Amino acid sequence: MLVVEVVVVVERVAAGANTRQTPADMATSVAMFRREKEAGGRPRTNKNMHLIELRDITKTYHLGEIDVPVLKGVSLEVARGELVALMGASGSGKSTMMNILGCLDRPTSGSYRLDGQEIADLSSDERARVRNGKIGFVFQSFNLLARTTALENVMMPLSYAPHISEKEAKRRAKELLDRVGLADRMDHYPSQLSGGQQQRVAIARSLINHPPLLFADEPTGNLDSHTSKEVLEMFQRLNEDEKITIILVTHDPGVGSIAKRTILMRDGKIENEEEARTVREPLHEPAASARPAAVALGGAR
Ligand code: ADP
Ligand code: MG
Repeated sequence: MLVVEVVVVVERVAAGANTRQTPADMATSVAMFRREKEAGGRPRTNKNMHLIELRDITKTYHLGEIDVPVLKGVSLEVARGELVALMGASGSGKSTMMNILGCLDRPTSGSYRLDGQEIADLSSDERARVRNGKIGFVFQSFNLLARTTALENVMMPLSYAPHISEKEAKRRAKELLDRVGLADRMDHYPSQLSGGQQQRVAIARSLINHPPLLFADEPTGNLDSHTSKEVLEMFQRLNEDEKITIILVTHDPGVGSIAKRTILMRDGKIENEEEARTVREPLHEPAASARPAAVALGGAR
């Protein structure tokens, strides 16, 4: 898949902070490129290599004098093209994991290779560059700009990409809105759209840079069950048709019905995936045995 390195504004629900590419980011990009060149070239994309490889990741937050260990040694592999549900009780560390996997935050220790590139020791500017090129985000609360139409919301991440014309940005945004079934709602403001429609706008926005990797943190958390199902089916189609690798962070057991693999977090660690499956199966009738077995790709160690 063509990865266009353009600028995206990543809205963080948790921090409410915006990260956008600045001239300093550009300078960082140049510095990174030089460093990669000196080290023998850019990391090559090896199609056989896992897209995500985590080794012994820990994350400890520091609240004043107190250390709060949240991730306690997580190892994980995700292959290209997987659709994974990251599940677990509230407080088990799912969002912390997503922030690290999504290059929004860095681990305290351990190794994270994304597409062959070590991420764990990158600066925040360097991580921003990786995000801009490779990762899309969808959040529980949609994070659309209120005074901005659906079309403008979807175009927004491209507004800092000088090499993409306004015309091209509009063309791409229209195509994406059409793909999520909102061709007739492009000029509507978020307040004029239902929750499900707003989330579809957010999905279209997350795809504007053609990211190979998409994260969704509780994407159905604010939706009713019927709308949740529609949104989940949209992720499923994106995964099947576009081969986008998708990680859905959720405690909604309904998500298990579209994910081929479930990773269950418990108290900052990943449960054995075999056990996770037996936990999940009773949640989904008819019997989960009617579905293909979870894909055995890497997994918890
Ligand atoms: P989940 O998404 O599974 O509900 P989180 O990753 O949000 O879990 O949180 C896991 C634990 O980490 C919780 O106990 C939470 O209080 C703690 N935590 C999360 N973010 C911070 C932070 N910035 N500072 C301190 N503790 C945090
Ligand atoms: Mg969370």
